[in-house]
Amino acid sequence: MQRRGPSRPKTPEWYKNPPPHLVPFVMFSNRSSIASVLQSFRLDDRMLCYNGFVAKLYNWCVSLGFTPGKIMPSRAFCSDESQGFPIILMAKHFGAFPFNHGRVGGIVSLERHGPHADHGKDLLLVQASHVGYDPETAEFGVYRRLHTEESVNTCNCGKIGHILDWYRSEYAYARENIRLLRHEGQPAVLIDNLLLSGRRSQGLFLVFENLVRDAARGLPSPVAARSTGVVYSAADSLVARLGEAVWPAEGWVAIGPRLAAGDFYFERDWGGMDPTQNQLERNIVAPMPWILTSRHPFLTAACANTLAEFDRCYRSLSQSAVMRGKNLLFIAGVNIDISPYPGESFPLTKFAPWAAFVQRADGPRELLEQDEVLERLGAQSAENPAQLALDQSIDTMTTHREVIVRL
Ligand SMILES: [Zn+2]
Repeated sequence: MQRRGPSRPKTPEWYKNPPPHLVPFVMFSNRSSIASVLQSFRLDDRMLCYNGFVAKLYNWCVSLGFTPGKIMPSRAFCSDESQGFPIILMAKHFGAFPFNHGRVGGIVSLERHGPHADHGKDLLLVQASHVGYDPETAEFGVYRRLHTEESVNTCNCGKIGHILDWYRSEYAYARENIRLLRHEGQPAVLIDNLLLSGRRSQGLFLVFENLVRDAARGLPSPVAARSTGVVYSAADSLVARLGEAVWPAEGWVAIGPRLAAGDFYFERDWGGMDPTQNQLERNIVAPMPWILTSRHPFLTAACANTLAEFDRCYRSLSQSAVMRGKNLLFIAGVNIDISPYPGESFPLTKFAPWAAFVQRADGPRELLEQDEVLERLGAQSAENPAQLALDQSIDTMTTHREVIVRL
């Protein structure tokens, strides 16, 4: 049976010409570099306890010439209550409740630069995606909700989990429905018809040349057909990668976890949706194969989102007219929400920094990579004598002064 190779769906217009301030693909536009880009966000020995981190961040701002008492902090965090502790620490150390730059999932609202800039002489912006962690099981992606009736673990970040669900199910289908078998004694692959269809507007699409012999210029003629799929000779590179012993002498085995990140990609039909409504998904759709095949998908997704958001927000800040003449420190990273134990009020959050952008009011600008950020923070004192005594400050506001609001 002769079968035409599937045609790839038309590239959507927004992918080809995304608006400059909404570019979700700058960071991951080159597929061949995605794995190394993700690996460059290192976490080993790079997680900082939040209280010490924010104290050092304050001292770093002062060392840059920011004026104590005139710094307006802002945060772009998820709306999850687990993000409250870092916000409280920012309020305590900077003496001001942080402006809110964040949308669910840790997306930066770029259109809020103006109000943020209006509210302070010197500006700090902290962006963080977040991921839960259960210290008892060493599992990422869950967080113990002490305020639920049974203090159960639930998904964290829930927004990332909600996005991952669809991609996970597509990936599970492909793992089960690409099968390794022999045709006339030689390694072959049976690929489900759905995965061969180029008429889909969205779904998981295969990099055929990784799986099928002589498929670099489109699928060759199959060697056999089955009721719901087609059999091709296996690519030599696939046989070399998996080892020929993986192919059973009789019957078949599902390719399963042997379907590697480089073997597939996703297309999503956004249906003309406003890009600001699904920025997080747009940020992580290109690296999604590497997210799904990583050891900790929730953690990798949070890192990927931070990588994309730093790049996107840096471009916006550096071009924004409202930021000109301002002292500005923008730092991005991942909040790791370590589940609290009963009796504890807050998570033991850690911050893993990724990169920073510094702009001085008199013009000089500097981009700092991960190790440089850690070096700058490491050079600061963890003591902040200027921090607020929060209870005392609240006490002052509730007991020492009463103002009548006159109508
Ligand atoms: Zn979240």
